[in-house]
Amino acid sequence: MADKNSSLSPTPETKKIVIVGAGIIGASLGYYLSRRSDIAVTLLERDTPNAGASGHSFAWANAFGKDPREYHTLNRRSLDMWYRLAHQLDADIGIHYGGEMRWESNPQRAAQLRQRIQQIQKWGYPCRLITPDEMLVLEPDLQPGTVLAASLSEADIHIETDPFIDVCLRQACEAGAVVHSQTEVTGFVIRNGSVTAVKTSDGEFPCDVVVLASGVQTTELASLAEAHIPQQRSPGIVIKTTPCAEILHNVAVIHAPPKDGNHQHLHLRQLADGSLRIGQGTQEGINRDDSQGHADALLTRAKTYLPAIADAKAIPTPVGYRPMPLDGFPVLGFTKAMPNLYIALMHSGVTLAPLVGEMATLEIVDGVRLDWFAPYRPERFG
Ligand SMILES: Cc1cc2nc3c(=O)[nH]c(=O)nc-3n(C[C@H](O)[C@H](O)[C@H](O)COP(=O)(O)OP(=O)(O)OC[C@H]3O[C@@H](n4cnc5c(N)ncnc54)[C@H](O)[C@@H]3O)c2cc1C
Repeated sequence: MADKNSSLSPTPETKKIVIVGAGIIGASLGYYLSRRSDIAVTLLERDTPNAGASGHSFAWANAFGKDPREYHTLNRRSLDMWYRLAHQLDADIGIHYGGEMRWESNPQRAAQLRQRIQQIQKWGYPCRLITPDEMLVLEPDLQPGTVLAASLSEADIHIETDPFIDVCLRQACEAGAVVHSQTEVTGFVIRNGSVTAVKTSDGEFPCDVVVLASGVQTTELASLAEAHIPQQRSPGIVIKTTPCAEILHNVAVIHAPPKDGNHQHLHLRQLADGSLRIGQGTQEGINRDDSQGHADALLTRAKTYLPAIADAKAIPTPVGYRPMPLDGFPVLGFTKAMPNLYIALMHSGVTLAPLVGEMATLEIVDGVRLDWFAPYRPERFG
């Protein structure tokens, strides 16, 4: 742990860093920043921690479908960092190891899967094609139907965002950080081209640096500080179920093929309490149907592959909005318009949280500019 006393008793040298948003990115940043000496961290959250995209996420950490290679590598680095972060936090963050298993039952998609595996194997991703027999050894309760190609991506994991955010914020507070929930940021005090304080529903917070980790609201907040960070709207749905007996014995996530041309892929994972999370399509798939009917339909499809969950009941969840920069790639770094305003906006934030938390801390505290972040700077939007 960092020198707690210096954080608890601010000196004139103490740098005041205000983070806006207590989702997975704000919480990870809060944790890493508060480990440093002479840094006073304040987190402002308009709702409760995990109320944004993080609480609606499928939370599969992976680099499987990430292109181009540079972006794949960024995700891969972060995925590998989850193990060290979990070890450092030394607390239950709902991390499930075991990889991701997927299969295809249509010849064209099976060919695409084989091609993808070949491509990411070349990039050094630990994944491979597996036989139907191997699938059943891993997951004996699975009834996959026709299998024309199947794969296992062994490094993939899933996280439970709620306990992770909770643990990060708790450990940040133990190191001197302060979290204000139900405190909405409404604007900034700007003097001589820098943000000197953050205006909120609960008064002003003086700052040396502001970090916007405010998800979909980042665009609006950044515009109040003269920065242009455009986003696309990206609604998605991950339904919940009532708890079931253990159904996934080894892998963390499964991706099942569409039943026919009218359906999308199904993805499914099981949490420690036995409940399932089920989504459809890709990680970026648009879906706004939060009805009970849609939740029931997803669960019915899941039951065809996992008959042992016959008694599970579907619980619909409200639509979640992914923070989605206009070009789909992360936005990381200080803005040109306001040099003490740092942007941390991204899709795949669950995968990227360890890397962004630790590496953005190097940029914010040590003043380095990471080569890894060069393609993702805010000024690319003009
Ligand atoms: C359906 C769905 C499925 C997904 N699946 C995956 C996946 O499998 N793997 C993966 O890696 N990623 C996935 N994602 C994306 C991932 O969840 C997000 O990238 C990540 O949660 C973003 O975290 P964040 O902390 O940046 O944003 P958020 O979690 O949205 O946090 C932002 C916080 O800022 C607060 N805030 C906003 N405005 C203000 C204000 N004015 N004042 C104070 N606080 C404010 C909000 O209340 C919120 O709590 C998925 C997302 C969705 C919606």
